[in-house]
Amino acid sequence: MNKLISITLTFTLMVIVISSGCETSKVYQDLSIDEANKILLHKNGNEEMFYWELDDEKNLWEFELGHITALKLYRDSIKFELGDNKYKSAIQKESVQNLEKSLIENEENGDRINALLVHSGAVGEIRRINYLESQILNYQIGRFPLFSRPTEFHGFIAENEKEGKIKVYFGSSDTEWPPKPTIIIQEIDKELKRGWKLKYHLHNHYCKKDRDYIGILAPSLADAQYYKMLKERFNIEKSLITNGFHTVEIDNQDFAKFESH
Ligand SMILES: [Zn+2]
Repeated sequence: MNKLISITLTFTLMVIVISSGCETSKVYQDLSIDEANKILLHKNGNEEMFYWELDDEKNLWEFELGHITALKLYRDSIKFELGDNKYKSAIQKESVQNLEKSLIENEENGDRINALLVHSGAVGEIRRINYLESQILNYQIGRFPLFSRPTEFHGFIAENEKEGKIKVYFGSSDTEWPPKPTIIIQEIDKELKRGWKLKYHLHNHYCKKDRDYIGILAPSLADAQYYKMLKERFNIEKSLITNGFHTVEIDNQDFAKFESH
């Protein structure tokens, strides 16, 4: 009889432990960054454009990351390939903003000037990747593993302050360059008339093996040109570039400081 009570107790405890485990993960599931909750705008083979509509919760912008299986796999692959020390120093190297500003004067290559503007601290702010950015990147690299089949996505984040909602517009394919987001731009145009505001553009950078994989946290010439257009057309607040570890935030008043096409 005692044995039966003890078995029943153990079972009850197990149920409690398991269900409280589910409670913790539910917080993240509620944010609906997944396949099921996307609202499709366009699909052609692997090319897709859609948006997620989410409640503008505080933890979207914080640094505790949720379920990011694909992103973790990407990080582990780089770590395995580079070894612990090189892995840490490669991530660190791309996150600093303390290089000499005078390096910019002697540089002629536009992409390198842009990188120096960020890494000397002249423009932008580098910080850890946040929850929302990690979810968006995780979605894309769950489709195509970033380590073995690198791709870039286009992300646009719009806000409706009155309704307390955000929309994350997303465009990508299986290619290194994202497809032109014409359909998304048309959609944003419509939403701006209904009280939405385009706040951020987000995309990802990666590097190949010769540069230790960690993506450059600065806009390319093409990126900078695109940002200028987004400012002119939508008065977008900031642009964001993430490499899966850190993200650089660039205010719209600084877009003009970058070299562009
Ligand atoms: Zn770029």
